[in-house]
Amino acid sequence: MSEIAAWHAGEEEYLQAVEEVVRAVITVEKADAQYTAARVLRRLAEPDRVIAFRVEWADDKGEIRLNRGWRVQHSNLMGPYKGGLRFHPSVTRSILKFLAFEQTFKNSLTDLPLGGGKGGSDFDPSGHSDAEIMRFCQAFMGELVRYIGPSRDVPAGDIGVGTREIGYLAAAYKRATGEAEGAITGKALCIGGSELRVEATGYGLVYFVCAMLARAGEEIEGKRVAISGKGNVARHAARKAMQLGATVVSLSDSSGLIAAEDGLSVEALDWITARADAGQSVDTPPKRVGFEYLPGKKPWQIECDIALPCATQNELDADDARALVEGGCRFVAEGANMPLTNKAAAVLLKAGVLHAPGKASNAGGVVVSALEMRQNAAFRSMPAEEVDGLLRDIMVGIHRLICEEANRGTAKSTAEVDYVRGANIAAYRRLARAVVDHGLI
Ligand code: GLU
Repeated sequence: MSEIAAWHAGEEEYLQAVEEVVRAVITVEKADAQYTAARVLRRLAEPDRVIAFRVEWADDKGEIRLNRGWRVQHSNLMGPYKGGLRFHPSVTRSILKFLAFEQTFKNSLTDLPLGGGKGGSDFDPSGHSDAEIMRFCQAFMGELVRYIGPSRDVPAGDIGVGTREIGYLAAAYKRATGEAEGAITGKALCIGGSELRVEATGYGLVYFVCAMLARAGEEIEGKRVAISGKGNVARHAARKAMQLGATVVSLSDSSGLIAAEDGLSVEALDWITARADAGQSVDTPPKRVGFEYLPGKKPWQIECDIALPCATQNELDADDARALVEGGCRFVAEGANMPLTNKAAAVLLKAGVLHAPGKASNAGGVVVSALEMRQNAAFRSMPAEEVDGLLRDIMVGIHRLICEEANRGTAKSTAEVDYVRGANIAAYRRLARAVVDHGLI
């Protein structure tokens, strides 16, 4: 780690993500002469390239605005670089590097032919008019277009980049290249998108949780589920959990907690969705929707069986993890990317709480992105039931792979699965094989 830390000095999030993987897989690498000689970990800890660019655009008053843009192409060992774009003021090089690194591991777990990448900008879409967002997207793609393509690098959405932004980005790509083929996923259905892409991450998360529960001889019906976030992932996880008979006790946003001790109603979720889509706050719910908004609070004090952190990186710290353990939580599955600090993960592991890392449990989004690429390439679109069936099968397959890996060679009781270790090692093995087979790249 010391050389990696020196090469990436000051990039805390990146080093945190790499350290989690190194800790889990170092013994696997050391035990294999080929992997050791190929310096697999050291090489995977360096992105293939980091592209940085200036984005200039004009606001509605005609004033010139500047933002920073990046694309981190982490690894194309398994296929074209694949991963979302994030537009948020918190975006830095370090954050995109950690996300791209995670994406490479996540994508390899899906067993689909996808490499890993991530990009974005410190641009904040909230508070901007539609026309400004469109001009920003056009300017951003004006630069990004040189580096992407259907077999080269295929971006998608992430925080701040939804169907609307993807539409503007796709149009700018078409305009610049003259190619109708989308080099981007998450498109609206009418422009070559896939059924269920919007729902995919949240639904996939719940399918993964159902597999964790099934393994423990339990089911989701009747369970109390605490969820953070109120974005795409959180809302669709809540909806699927509710459809399957769970009681969803919370959602949240960056300013506070949506608390529903007796369970969020479908009406409340619809109201939250409408407000969030319109860019409006949810802090003054009408009485009929039946939840409380508590400013400054997080969901992890509420008693629950299952916790799904779906907001953003490092949102759940060691104190929050202890609160979850005290409140009886037994399953944690990450909907966001790296929402737990490494200390929080250690608290859960020690307490015997089963904890699925995002690179496994939130892979549903990229899975349906891959299905979108497949549909585009085949000139054939799949009905929602077919997409849903494949999504479910792939999430269950990831779960199975991790459990086999986590229990390999150990005499542990079958109830115990170290999902973090299992996911990292399973992904590493696939990537290590590809590193060795490629020789020097
Ligand atoms: N941003 C999503 C993720 O974190 C989806 C990426 C994609 O569909 O390419 O996995």
